[in-house]
Amino acid sequence: MWKTVFVNRSLHLENIKYYGFDMDYTLAEYKSPQYEQLGFNLVKERLVFMGYPKEILQFEYDPTFPVRGLWFDTLYGNLLKVDAYGNILVCVHGFEFIKHHQVYELYPNKFLKLDESRVYVLNTLFNLPETYLLACLVDFLTNSSDFVRVERGIKAGDLLFTYKSIFQDVRRAVDWVHSDGDLKRRTTQNMAHYVKKDERLPTVLSRIRESGAKLFMLTNSDYTYTNEIMTYLFDFPHGATPDEPHRDWKTYFDVIVVDARKPLFFDEGTVLRQVDTKTGSLKIGTHVGPLQPGQVYSGGSCELFTKFINAKGKDVLYVGDHIFGDILKSKKIRGWRTFLIVPELVRELHVWTDECQLFAELQNLDIKLGDLYRDLNSSAKVKPDISQLRTCIRDVNHKMELS
Ligand code: IMP
Ligand code: MG
Repeated sequence: MWKTVFVNRSLHLENIKYYGFDMDYTLAEYKSPQYEQLGFNLVKERLVFMGYPKEILQFEYDPTFPVRGLWFDTLYGNLLKVDAYGNILVCVHGFEFIKHHQVYELYPNKFLKLDESRVYVLNTLFNLPETYLLACLVDFLTNSSDFVRVERGIKAGDLLFTYKSIFQDVRRAVDWVHSDGDLKRRTTQNMAHYVKKDERLPTVLSRIRESGAKLFMLTNSDYTYTNEIMTYLFDFPHGATPDEPHRDWKTYFDVIVVDARKPLFFDEGTVLRQVDTKTGSLKIGTHVGPLQPGQVYSGGSCELFTKFINAKGKDVLYVGDHIFGDILKSKKIRGWRTFLIVPELVRELHVWTDECQLFAELQNLDIKLGDLYRDLNSSAKVKPDISQLRTCIRDVNHKMELS
């Protein structure tokens, strides 16, 4: 959807000197659910290697369950859907949806503070496999006859597995699959199965250039992987379109930075090095500038980067998919303009139109509630009975949450 905005030039922003792009889930869109399925299976295998029971290999990824942005409460092992303030909208333990009054018992005022030592926010599309896996594991372990449920986890004989330790194991397995495991190799071995290819991409970048702006790519992926993905995305043997002849993907960018370590990049950053594009290895020594087109750099910090490209905060528009790592940090710390990619929005808009009767129902109930209170003044002895209406509102809300 974002490419349409750029191709049609419907985004009118003035004084942008640099358009920056993240790669994963931004320039490179992974095919769903096969990519999440691959991640899910690899993490399961890693957990079994770490000592988890072999039965977990039977879990099958269900793309209809996880959504991006859920919180995992490592204290009680619950997945939570919360609003922007931390009010809990849905609480699920394994696959058991926790009832309203139980939610109140666990979370006073149905509220939870975002305390990073307790809560992990499953912020990116990369987190979808582990979101579902956490639900599968909590469901499996709490219902297995080999384990006894205790308040903050489960026990098997002398062994205690807190929800926190289960979460940490899953997190470790996910990290391993991304950095040392097979995820990247399996992806690049079967690109057509896992990565969407869109012939508009070269045109989009060319058009931005034609408008007089410069382009950079800033990704957390390493050079070898980035090069394989980008080569695939720009590989149209006869050119993407008649006016867009084939050329190396690197020529579309004025600056390329890999291994960026966002969000750290927007704070103190790391050492800036040059990549040897023939071997993929890093050249020794710190690169002290300037940044040359056609070269690839690894790491660095936003402070140095913007100095080298001679851009102030508002001169840059950065396009990314990670609300925290790409958007909030670059905007708040560096004053960049930002463009968040939200692929789920297409589905959300469908829900909005498909479920319009639910919105109408809710509005109706709201009017009824208003009517009940309309003639009430502070001296009234008998308060209206709203319990039935409240239940109806809750039911409609629940249906909307599930859509
Ligand atoms: P981006 O630049 O933020 O899009 O980062 C994408 C890179 O981060 C890819 O190389 C992913 O494999 C990697 N990545 C994403 N999630 C995780 C994780 O949970 N652990 C380790 N690496 C990850
Ligand atoms: Mg990304």
